[in-house]
Amino acid sequence: MIKIKDKEFVPFITESELLDRINVLGKQISEKFKDDQPILLGVLNGAFMFLSDLSKSIDIPVEVSFVKMSSYSGTSSTGEVKDLIGLGVDIKDRKVIVVEDIVDTGLSMSYLLELLSKKQPADVSVVTLLYKPEALKHAIKLDFVGFEIPNKFVVGYGLDYDGLGRNLPEIYQLK
Ligand code: 5GP
Ligand code: MG
Ligand code: MG
Repeated sequence: MIKIKDKEFVPFITESELLDRINVLGKQISEKFKDDQPILLGVLNGAFMFLSDLSKSIDIPVEVSFVKMSSYSGTSSTGEVKDLIGLGVDIKDRKVIVVEDIVDTGLSMSYLLELLSKKQPADVSVVTLLYKPEALKHAIKLDFVGFEIPNKFVVGYGLDYDGLGRNLPEIYQLK
């Protein structure tokens, strides 16, 4: 059990379960993109730890870049999406792999995919570590999924509760 501010969280996915699964995703991505020199585009802040481990399990050369957007405060979605910040790399005619920590309602991802498509990439794929199928409201194509999880709030391994807990090496679920 771990306490962050007013909430208690219980262990949910261990570090070794995460790394084992991420290794499998890395192998699949390496195989699919072996001739493509894709761009791994991490969505900050949540995906920083996942992208770090995922990129090390990919055995082809890739470019790594990050963007930032935000739709969430506290433990429930606000439904609003802020701006996309920091797309510094030219994605025109490139294969882009968006790397997300979690797809919940899918709003952030559908918004991001729409913005990216305007920049005329050759192709956009999505890899998300976590996916909550019961919460999905926006139809999006997820190419690689680490874990399908129930519709409960989680923290750790990049994911925060009110700014805290991103550093935890494993994932915890709200008690
Ligand atoms: P969506 O737009 O899919 O509803 O939400 C996407 C964003 O909300 C995620 O990238 C993540 O930052 C945040 N989010 C959604 N569910 C959770 C959760 O269970 N825990 C945490 N910490 N963040 C979440
Ligand atoms: Mg995210
Ligand atoms: Mg957050």
